[in-house]
Amino acid sequence: MTKDALKIWMALPVGARSKILSNVWCGQCRAGVTICDYSADFDRGLVVLRGFCATCGHKVARAIESCYKNKKPFYA
Ligand SMILES: [Zn+2]
Repeated sequence: MTKDALKIWMALPVGARSKILSNVWCGQCRAGVTICDYSADFDRGLVVLRGFCATCGHKVARAIESCYKNKKPFYA
């Protein structure tokens, strides 16, 4: 977990965050699921959430397309 990544993530409006959290692709369920026990990190400068599928517990991840390390969040 990177503090900066979490900070950028937390700077997003609650509505945008809950929308993202409840629409993460799970390869096991083959559906959009809710991510739980997630942590925020950077992957090639992009904020990525890694956690587990709320339905089956499979590992899931989601890149936040508008959250770059060196840029202000798109929504801000
Ligand atoms: Zn699942």
